[in-house]
Amino acid sequence: MHPSTLPDLRVGHGYDLHRLEAAPPAGNGRPFVLAGVRFDHPVGPVGHSDGDAVYHAVVDALLGALGLPDIGQAFPDTDPTWDGQDSAYFMERAREAVAARGYAVVNLDVTVICERPKLSPAKADMIANIARVLGVSKDRVNLKGKTHEKVDAVGEGRAVEVHVVALLARVAV
Ligand code: MG
Repeated sequence: MHPSTLPDLRVGHGYDLHRLEAAPPAGNGRPFVLAGVRFDHPVGPVGHSDGDAVYHAVVDALLGALGLPDIGQAFPDTDPTWDGQDSAYFMERAREAVAARGYAVVNLDVTVICERPKLSPAKADMIANIARVLGVSKDRVNLKGKTHEKVDAVGEGRAVEVHVVALLARVAV
Protein backbone atom coordinates (compact mmCIF):
# COMPACT_ATOMS: atom_id res chain seq x y z
CA MET A 1 0.00 0.00 0.00
CA HIS A 2 1.31 3.42 -0.97
CA PRO A 3 -1.47 5.95 -0.34
CA SER A 4 -1.45 8.94 -2.66
CA THR A 5 -1.82 11.23 0.34
CA LEU A 6 1.63 10.22 1.59
CA PRO A 7 3.86 13.34 1.54
CA ASP A 8 6.58 13.04 -1.11
CA LEU A 9 9.59 13.63 1.12
CA ARG A 10 13.08 12.26 0.48
CA VAL A 11 15.85 12.03 3.03
CA GLY A 12 19.49 11.69 2.02
CA HIS A 13 22.70 11.16 3.94
CA GLY A 14 26.10 12.37 2.75
CA TYR A 15 29.46 11.51 4.21
CA ASP A 16 32.97 12.59 3.28
CA LEU A 17 36.45 12.38 4.74
CA HIS A 18 39.65 13.95 3.47
CA ARG A 19 43.14 13.26 4.69
CA LEU A 20 44.94 16.44 5.81
CA GLU A 21 48.55 17.03 4.79
CA ALA A 22 51.00 19.89 4.58
CA ALA A 23 51.23 21.78 1.30
CA PRO A 24 53.70 20.55 -1.35
CA PRO A 25 56.53 19.69 -1.33
CA ALA A 26 56.17 18.40 2.27
CA GLY A 27 52.78 16.80 1.51
CA ASN A 28 49.90 16.87 -0.97
CA GLY A 29 47.54 19.11 0.96
CA ARG A 30 45.55 21.78 -0.79
CA PRO A 31 44.50 25.03 0.91
CA PHE A 32 42.00 24.16 3.69
CA VAL A 33 38.55 25.00 2.36
CA LEU A 34 35.31 23.95 4.07
CA ALA A 35 31.91 25.09 2.76
CA GLY A 36 33.71 27.58 0.55
CA VAL A 37 35.53 29.22 3.48
CA ARG A 38 39.32 29.28 3.32
CA PHE A 39 41.01 28.55 6.69
CA ASP A 40 44.53 29.59 7.54
CA HIS A 41 45.84 26.21 8.73
CA PRO A 42 49.16 24.36 8.38
CA VAL A 43 47.56 21.32 6.73
CA GLY A 44 44.84 20.98 4.10
CA PRO A 45 42.81 18.30 2.33
CA VAL A 46 44.30 15.85 -0.11
CA GLY A 47 41.83 15.61 -2.97
CA HIS A 48 41.41 15.65 -6.70
CA SER A 49 39.09 18.67 -6.64
CA ASP A 50 39.57 21.51 -4.14
CA GLY A 51 38.85 18.93 -1.39
CA ASP A 52 35.91 20.78 0.17
CA ALA A 53 34.55 17.94 2.32
CA VAL A 54 31.43 19.91 3.36
CA TYR A 55 30.35 20.61 -0.20
CA HIS A 56 31.09 17.00 -1.18
CA ALA A 57 28.97 15.62 1.66
CA VAL A 58 26.12 18.05 0.87
CA VAL A 59 26.19 16.93 -2.78
CA ASP A 60 26.06 13.26 -1.75
CA ALA A 61 23.15 13.92 0.62
CA LEU A 62 21.18 15.60 -2.18
CA LEU A 63 22.07 12.96 -4.79
CA GLY A 64 21.30 10.22 -2.26
CA ALA A 65 17.87 11.69 -1.53
CA LEU A 66 17.16 11.64 -5.27
CA GLY A 67 18.44 8.06 -5.62
CA LEU A 68 21.15 9.19 -8.04
CA PRO A 69 24.75 7.98 -8.41
CA ASP A 70 27.11 9.58 -5.88
CA ILE A 71 29.61 12.39 -6.42
CA GLY A 72 32.46 9.97 -7.09
CA GLN A 73 30.48 8.32 -9.88
CA ALA A 74 29.19 11.60 -11.34
CA PHE A 75 32.59 13.35 -11.22
CA PRO A 76 35.28 10.64 -11.15
CA ASP A 77 38.68 11.53 -9.66
CA THR A 78 40.26 9.85 -12.68
CA ASP A 79 38.92 12.67 -14.89
CA PRO A 80 41.48 15.51 -15.22
CA THR A 81 38.54 17.93 -15.75
CA TRP A 82 37.95 17.96 -11.97
CA ASP A 83 41.56 18.56 -10.93
CA GLY A 84 41.45 21.45 -8.44
CA GLN A 85 37.78 22.09 -9.30
CA ASP A 86 35.92 24.57 -7.06
CA SER A 87 33.40 22.22 -5.42
CA ALA A 88 30.67 24.88 -5.64
CA TYR A 89 30.39 23.58 -9.21
CA PHE A 90 29.31 20.13 -7.90
CA MET A 91 26.82 21.83 -5.57
CA GLU A 92 25.32 23.73 -8.50
CA ARG A 93 24.92 20.48 -10.46
CA ALA A 94 23.22 18.86 -7.43
CA ARG A 95 20.95 21.89 -7.08
CA GLU A 96 19.95 21.49 -10.74
CA ALA A 97 19.29 17.78 -10.23
CA VAL A 98 16.97 18.52 -7.28
CA ALA A 99 15.03 21.14 -9.26
CA ALA A 100 14.89 19.04 -12.44
CA ARG A 101 13.19 16.22 -10.53
CA GLY A 102 10.64 18.59 -9.03
CA TYR A 103 12.02 18.75 -5.49
CA ALA A 104 13.14 21.52 -3.16
CA VAL A 105 15.44 21.41 -0.14
CA VAL A 106 13.45 21.49 3.10
CA ASN A 107 16.55 21.57 5.31
CA LEU A 108 20.14 20.41 5.65
CA ASP A 109 21.90 19.43 8.87
CA VAL A 110 25.69 19.43 8.53
CA THR A 111 28.14 18.01 11.09
CA VAL A 112 31.83 18.77 10.59
CA ILE A 113 34.32 16.79 12.68
CA CYS A 114 37.87 18.08 12.93
CA GLU A 115 40.24 18.80 15.77
CA ARG A 116 41.45 22.11 14.35
CA PRO A 117 40.91 24.79 13.12
CA LYS A 118 38.08 26.12 15.28
CA LEU A 119 35.02 26.39 13.07
CA SER A 120 32.89 28.66 15.25
CA PRO A 121 34.25 31.99 13.89
CA ALA A 122 33.48 30.82 10.33
CA LYS A 123 30.18 29.06 10.95
CA ALA A 124 27.95 31.90 9.75
CA ASP A 125 29.96 32.27 6.53
CA MET A 126 29.88 28.51 5.92
CA ILE A 127 26.10 28.42 6.34
CA ALA A 128 25.70 31.49 4.12
CA ASN A 129 27.82 29.87 1.38
CA ILE A 130 25.86 26.61 1.41
CA ALA A 131 22.56 28.50 1.36
CA ARG A 132 23.67 30.81 -1.46
CA VAL A 133 25.02 28.05 -3.71
CA LEU A 134 21.88 25.94 -3.22
CA GLY A 135 19.52 28.91 -3.52
CA VAL A 136 17.83 28.31 -0.15
CA SER A 137 17.38 30.59 2.82
CA LYS A 138 19.97 30.38 5.58
CA ASP A 139 17.44 29.19 8.14
CA ARG A 140 17.19 25.93 6.18
CA VAL A 141 20.87 25.15 6.76
CA ASN A 142 22.32 24.08 10.10
CA LEU A 143 26.02 23.44 10.72
CA LYS A 144 27.67 21.97 13.79
CA GLY A 145 31.36 21.68 14.52
CA LYS A 146 32.67 18.84 16.69
CA THR A 147 36.06 17.45 17.61
CA HIS A 148 37.05 13.78 17.72
CA GLU A 149 38.40 14.05 21.27
CA LYS A 150 42.04 13.73 20.12
CA VAL A 151 41.64 10.05 19.17
CA ASP A 152 42.02 8.34 15.79
CA ALA A 153 43.03 10.10 12.59
CA VAL A 154 40.43 12.87 12.85
CA GLY A 155 41.26 13.52 16.49
CA GLU A 156 44.97 13.63 15.68
CA GLY A 157 44.34 16.31 13.06
CA ARG A 158 45.15 14.02 10.13
CA ALA A 159 41.68 14.06 8.58
CA VAL A 160 38.45 16.03 8.41
CA GLU A 161 35.10 14.24 8.36
CA VAL A 162 31.63 15.52 7.44
CA HIS A 163 28.11 14.10 7.75
CA VAL A 164 25.07 15.72 6.14
CA VAL A 165 21.41 14.86 6.33
CA ALA A 166 19.19 16.49 3.72
CA LEU A 167 15.41 16.52 3.47
CA LEU A 168 13.73 17.21 0.14
CA ALA A 169 10.05 17.76 -0.60
CA ARG A 170 8.30 17.49 -3.94
CA VAL A 171 7.13 20.88 -5.18
CA ALA A 172 6.15 20.11 -8.78
CA VAL A 173 4.24 17.31 -10.48
MG1 MG B 1 35.50 14.49 -1.06
